[in-house]
Amino acid sequence: LGRHRGQVEPTGFDYNGVHFGQDTFHLFAGLCAVDNPANTERMMAALHEQGLQATRMGAYKPRTSPYDFQGHGAECLPYVFELAGKYGIRVVAMEVTEARHIEEIQTELDRAGSPTGVMLQVGTRNAQNFELLKEVGSQTRFPVLYKRGFGITLEESLNACEYIAASGNRNVVFCLRGVKSHMGAPHRNLVDFAHVPVVKRLTRMPVCVDPSHSVGNRERSPDGLLEVQHAAGQGLIAGANMVLADFHPEPERALVDGPQALHLEELPYFRQDLAIIEEAY
Ligand code: PEP
Repeated sequence: LGRHRGQVEPTGFDYNGVHFGQDTFHLFAGLCAVDNPANTERMMAALHEQGLQATRMGAYKPRTSPYDFQGHGAECLPYVFELAGKYGIRVVAMEVTEARHIEEIQTELDRAGSPTGVMLQVGTRNAQNFELLKEVGSQTRFPVLYKRGFGITLEESLNACEYIAASGNRNVVFCLRGVKSHMGAPHRNLVDFAHVPVVKRLTRMPVCVDPSHSVGNRERSPDGLLEVQHAAGQGLIAGANMVLADFHPEPERALVDGPQALHLEELPYFRQDLAIIEEAY
């Protein structure tokens, strides 16, 4: 990934007709957890209306409590991929927690005959699950979205990405999603988006930010902007190439992370704000 042996290589990669690089920008708005076909279709239709080509959709949800909703898993993949294809979504970011999930995704994509592609997400809880990193790295059909570990150093997270690359897959996006802080915070995690230029300096990976999991709420600041929107803007100003953002048609009824999901009606404004910042910087 450009860290070792001092390689000077072009940044980025193409996947399913979309380019990901240190000089491109993509918004991945979507459902933190897929709950039902109706909400999935509302989400996809809204993305299509905004001319967006990518989304985030959680099928396999690693949860802190075993009693919380764990995601529909493979069961929801047929309608997720069918609807993504119907609405022209080219890339779906989807977390996987074990090798079996990669197989299930591959099988369902083939079965659906969908033109949609998947970016495999490695979540923060699996940031140093070296066996999983080797699994997503030893297949090259899907690119990987690696989420920084919330309790390890940046260096350790960058090394985890080297596991993916060393296994054969160099199509990796690095995602900052906030880190745990012992000081408590008004936000779910301490926002770490000042590290965007650091990751770009140290590696050739495109860099993503996840303001939803960083901020963790839907609070509005006195200037009228949502705090999630502020964080997304900060990430973009710092040079982020991707923004991952949770939306839901009815956040109050979302099965996972409802408090941080933005209302779907807010998507056009959220997108507009990012477009203005992108143009200005
Ligand atoms: C997610 O993106 O759905 C998620 C669980 O993120 P993280 O692994 O960063 O907590």
